Amino acid sequence: MNNYLCKHCGTLHQSNSSPTTTGCPKSNSHSWTNLGSVVEKKGLQIQ
Ligand SMILES: [Zn+2]
Repeated sequence: MNNYLCKHCGTLHQSNSSPTTTGCPKSNSHSWTNLGSVVEKKGLQIQ
């Protein structure tokens, strides 16, 4: 899992691969910046 942040609208998206660029409210398309891996918190059950 990686964190992707759109530099246009500030939307944060978590995905294994680059999310779709369509549907950005502030621009023609999202422009994702990969912020790196999501750190899984110990003791938190992910279902
Ligand atoms: Zn966007």
